[in-house]
Amino acid sequence: MVSNYYVKVPRGGSRKVSRRAVLARDNHCCQYCGSRAHLTIDHVIPKSRGGATTWENIVTSCAPCNSRKGDRLPREANMHPRTSPRPPDPFSFIHLAVTEIRRSWRQYLEYAAV
Ligand SMILES: [Zn+2]
Repeated sequence: MVSNYYVKVPRGGSRKVSRRAVLARDNHCCQYCGSRAHLTIDHVIPKSRGGATTWENIVTSCAPCNSRKGDRLPREANMHPRTSPRPPDPFSFIHLAVTEIRRSWRQYLEYAAV
């Protein structure tokens, strides 16, 4: 007998942006210089310039890069994220949203995880 699991995943904007989730998405790596120390999150387009707090506008940045970039746009600072920020895929999101993955789910999640 085959069991099917349907996991309800919130869509789009309801996948809340959190520091923890952004760091996990970016593999705990500064998207400007690759550092793994003193990590913060950075608005690619600064809030002061109209940037939104969305998955597409937030990247992991170390504190030195964050302060170096300041309130400038990527092209003004000549600092571009290494990867285009995007919302986490549903499977990563489940890993992030659920602190303890139920044992019975693991076989369904692991092969799908990146
Ligand atoms: Zn950096």
